[in-house]
Amino acid sequence: MSEPPAAGPPVFARLTLIGIGLIGSSVARAARETGAAAEIIACDGSAAVCARVAELGIADVVEPDVRLAVAGADCVMLCVPVGAMAEIAATIAPCLAPGAVLTDVGSTKISVMRDVGPLVPAGVHFVPGHPLAGTEFSGPDSGFASLFEGRWTLVVPPAGTDRDAVDRVSALWQRFGAMVEVMEPAHHDRVLAIVSHLPHLLAFTICGTADDLADETRQEVLRFAASGFRDFTRIAASDPTMWRDIFLNNREALLEMLARFTEDAQAMARAIRWGDAAYIEDKVMRGRKIRRSLIDLKQA
Ligand code: NAP
Repeated sequence: MSEPPAAGPPVFARLTLIGIGLIGSSVARAARETGAAAEIIACDGSAAVCARVAELGIADVVEPDVRLAVAGADCVMLCVPVGAMAEIAATIAPCLAPGAVLTDVGSTKISVMRDVGPLVPAGVHFVPGHPLAGTEFSGPDSGFASLFEGRWTLVVPPAGTDRDAVDRVSALWQRFGAMVEVMEPAHHDRVLAIVSHLPHLLAFTICGTADDLADETRQEVLRFAASGFRDFTRIAASDPTMWRDIFLNNREALLEMLARFTEDAQAMARAIRWGDAAYIEDKVMRGRKIRRSLIDLKQA
């Protein structure tokens, strides 16, 4: 972990963002607000999104052609779903400037290294990253400059990556107010499987279960949702393409965490069946303790 640096000269002269959704538009806003990039180029595959980004004025240039968008950029950041990264990387590879940094914000890292890594031309520095910040909303209107403040960004460089490139990507996120930690990809994917991917899987599943209930019961679920169900629905409102790609690209770690969770859920079921009050109380106490630690760490 390192301390956020004070504001200073731009970290990058020309930052190209590909995919201007929640994260891409938040990076654009944060880069503009903090002066982290002298020039911000926004690129999105959708004409409607490009038009909206131009209207919002969050980038200096909106360029729908991805090849033209990356030309002359000293940093290119992929902000698209992880399943879309390989195709974009293959398209832009011949157009990347020598010495440029190619980074991303994808929620899975082994897959990004596997899919994008081999396409990166010699002389371009590949520094994958992942800001642990987000909301359940999508699109350029949903972003905001302070999204990354006080949140972690994990930087996951392949072995042997140029140190200066890693430092510059870290400095960019720190300029946005993020705390940065460098992590190894397999470790990243396992950690994210438990802190993010499994909770989302549970939320999607419980919403599905509630929706499958008989009509009369489903109505009751919606009326009395504040009793706990509501918190799951917020998580379950997330973008389907993004989450499909995350589940399919963090398969091993997610299935491992799900298997462990299923065992623990079975143990809880057994405790309930046999009236093991001490077991139940202990689990609830552990939940409370974790929540308190999060509040203490200002991550709640
Ligand atoms: P988003 O709001 O849905 O935006 C995704 C952007 O990617 C949109 O501009 C979309 O363009 C574009 N896109 C989708 N499929 C594409 C394709 N096949 N080719 C080119 N562009 C494509 O999503 P987001 O939340 O910003 O997520 C972007 C990345 O950040 C993902 O890799 C996600 O895993 C990661 N991430 C998300 C969060 C979070 O909480 N949301 C947090 C950390 C990291 P269209 O408008 O044309 O579809």
